[in-house]
Formats: sequence, C-alpha cells, structure tokens
Amino acid sequence: DERGGVRSGGPRLRATTVEKVMTPLNQCFMLNLDATLDFQTMSEVMRSGYSRVPVYEEERGNVVELLCVCDLECLDPADCTPLRSFTRFYGRPLHFVFSDTRLDAMLDEFKRGRSQLAVVQRVNSEGEGDPFYEVLGIVTLEDVVEEIIRTEVLSE
Ligand code: ADP
Repeated sequence: DERGGVRSGGPRLRATTVEKVMTPLNQCFMLNLDATLDFQTMSEVMRSGYSRVPVYEEERGNVVELLCVCDLECLDPADCTPLRSFTRFYGRPLHFVFSDTRLDAMLDEFKRGRSQLAVVQRVNSEGEGDPFYEVLGIVTLEDVVEEIIRTEVLSE
C-alpha cells in the first residue's frame, strides 16, 4: 500500500524521543550568567550564528536563563551591560522537558508555546545520593521538524 509508507512517519515520531534528536550539552553554545555583554562577548554570540543562547550559572548543567539574540539589537557593547541584569529584564521563559518526551508531544508543545527551544533533562538516580535533575542538552523545533522530514523521506 503506497499510502501506508507516508503514514508511517506518525508511529515513528511517537517512537522517537527528544534525547535522540537533541543537541548534546557539550555542543551547546552557552553563556555564563556572570558574563558581561561587552564587545567580545557580543561578537562571540553573533559569530555563533544561533538565535537563542542558554545561560548557565556556575556550571553548564545549571541552565537558568535564555538569551534571545534579537534582544541584543538595541544594546551598545560600550555599556558593558551585565548579562545577569539583561536576562532578568527580558525574562524570556525557559522550558524544560524530560529526555523521554516523544517527538509528537514535543511538537505539540512547541506549537502551543512561544519559545521554540527547550532544555532536555532527566532524573539521574544512578549514584548513591539522592536522585537529581541532569541537563542533557537542548532541543528546538528544527530538530523535531528535521526528524519528521527524515522519517517521511525514509518511508518513501
Ligand atoms: P537557530 O534559529 O539558532 O539557527 P534552530 O532552532 O534553527 O536554531 O536550530 C538549529 C540547530 O541548532 C538545532 O539542531 C538546535 O538544536 C541547534 N541549536 C540551537 N541553538 C543552539 C545553541 N545555542 N548551541 C548549540 N546548538 C544550538
């Protein structure tokens, strides 16, 4: 059945989790909350080419804010604005999802929300201590859409 192939993108989307399509934490371009939005930092952000930059406090696994690069448009690097006060002013919402979230659910969430980037986390209960949330990476609408297109092409 020819149409069966096209439809099979659906079940696959449900079978795949955000963990499979995310950008792992060690490959994320991020900024330290203590950074200053001076000429050097702003050039690094521009050169990265990303439109959203997660901001961490103390360690990369502790993502606390989201910087939208478009917010920087009116900022003068000569002012050396602290990133901390800048992100507090804009207060961009930061979304977290569990690593086993299915892509169809993720797509629905992206369609509902205004942000199209989510921080992927899991509960780590491997060690001796108490279980804790562990950040694994980030996922954007593009990662989900890319997977949809890939599965559609594969099922042709
Ligand atoms: P952008 O709009 O910044 O180009 P997209 O949402 O189109 O980002 O995502 C493109 C790819 O880049 C995706 O694989 C996504 O996970 C990844 N990505 C997005 N932001 C970052 C970032 N700050 N650091 C590393 N990878 C990122």
